[in-house]
Amino acid sequence: MHELSLAESVIQIIEHAAITQKFERVRVVWLEVGRMAGVEKDALTFCFDAVSRNTVAQDARLEIVDVPGLGTCSDCGGVHPVNALFDACPACGSYAVQVTGGTVMRVKELDVI
Ligand SMILES: [Zn+2]
Repeated sequence: MHELSLAESVIQIIEHAAITQKFERVRVVWLEVGRMAGVEKDALTFCFDAVSRNTVAQDARLEIVDVPGLGTCSDCGGVHPVNALFDACPACGSYAVQVTGGTVMRVKELDVI
């Protein structure tokens, strides 16, 4: 499952931060997830709970922050919000829209003790 490796990489980021920033517990993890990143949020939360066991993020709450998708139209050059791959450009109706935003996932903030 794709979400399992994502959850594992989030834990790796947190464990690394725990060493460099010297904290012992994480209470809340704010995770920005792009709408176009193809991440199943429920599955990610489930996997996070599983892989955070026996780490500094054990019992941490995962707060997923939704980041809207953005697309750049190759025909008119406009940048517009997109909700799905292959959405037409709302300005000119072209389908030559490249998804340019909301495709990544990143740890935004940690509430630590
Ligand atoms: Zn366009």
